[in-house]
Amino acid sequence: MFEEIDKNFILHSYGRNYVNFTKGEGAKLWDDKDHDYIDFTSGIGVVSVGHANKQVSDAICDQAKKIMHVSNLFLIEPQAKLAQSLVEKSGYDMRCFFANSGAEANEGAIKIARKYGEENGEPKRYKVITLKHSFHGRTISTLKATGQESMHNYFGPFPDGFVYADDIDHIESLIDDHTVCVMIELVQGEGGVEPMDKQEVQALAKLLKSKDILLAVDEVQTGIYRTGEIFASNLYEIEPDIITVAKGLGNGVPIGVVMTTHKDIFSPGDHGSTFGGGYLVTRAAYEVLEILERYKDSGGLDEAILYFENKLAALVDAYPDMVEKEVGLGLMRGLRIKNAKLLTDLITKAFAKNVLVLKAGRNTLRFLPPLTITKEEVDEGFKRLTEAFEVTKVA
Ligand SMILES: *Cc1c(COP(=O)(O)O)cnc(C)c1O
Repeated sequence: MFEEIDKNFILHSYGRNYVNFTKGEGAKLWDDKDHDYIDFTSGIGVVSVGHANKQVSDAICDQAKKIMHVSNLFLIEPQAKLAQSLVEKSGYDMRCFFANSGAEANEGAIKIARKYGEENGEPKRYKVITLKHSFHGRTISTLKATGQESMHNYFGPFPDGFVYADDIDHIESLIDDHTVCVMIELVQGEGGVEPMDKQEVQALAKLLKSKDILLAVDEVQTGIYRTGEIFASNLYEIEPDIITVAKGLGNGVPIGVVMTTHKDIFSPGDHGSTFGGGYLVTRAAYEVLEILERYKDSGGLDEAILYFENKLAALVDAYPDMVEKEVGLGLMRGLRIKNAKLLTDLITKAFAKNVLVLKAGRNTLRFLPPLTITKEEVDEGFKRLTEAFEVTKVA
């Protein structure tokens, strides 16, 4: 019934699967027929502390009963507390601006870079270099910042000033007098779970610093402990000028953040958001960070990463005809599947066996489980996934 309603009233911008999930707990989901699923996707890396996390939902309920909204023309206590927590946990000397999504956080990053370029040096600098297989969002400018040209069909004209490098090595040759910023993901998510080389990234960071060009790291997917540290930037031991965050921060409430070391870049009126940094989402995100910091400090996160890694390695060994290799970092992982058709089959068969997995790029089976996934949930998920591999193999 809801499938019909959905099809009649929702624009068809997603290749939607019509299962109707009605509740979740940890890394488990249940549909309206009470079938259970193991969730190796957490949305797309959103539900980092698990579905229906009690500490997060208690904070949301408590806040909803007190106050939900005043404009950003007033102090919002949980926004201030969340900003302090994010900055202190990151170890970077930054300030935050709160938005509502990853794309919007990246819009903020682009505006920071453009203003920096306006105020620092002659001629005015405005160009942002990104990578060919990047993904930075769906708004007009973040779509243009996204280097996958196939996604630019239909929607032009776009704003000027975006340049695409084939890879990190190629960036230097594209720098000119108008370049103000380089924006990269440290592990490309949508592009195929592709980690950048640490030495190359560190060399790039050094080069950009010497040329007074800003380094913006899009941590919308890699951020909030997804790669094992609060930010992948910490793991890569670099000091970006700008970091953007969104997906895993709110456990499902819409939140985006742009953080920068250029603490005085904006003056009142330069940037804003009606909903950004509201009470409800910042209370929720504060709890997410508390939970994950404790989890990381106790060794739980590293243990979960290792456990998941070993299960993936076993799959690679068991199905060499189907899997090329394992890719990714932390709990942002992928299996390179031999071809696109096999990948589609695997995802369909996995769903039929009640385990949720994602696709990335053309040939990557992607895993973004809740960071707090238990060993029992991992075991059950891989049991079902192995069954999916078996039936795909014979099919
Ligand atoms: C998902 C994603 C975005 C876009 O985030 P939205 O919240 O969908 O706007 C931007 N950058 C990266 C790296 C992402 O993975």
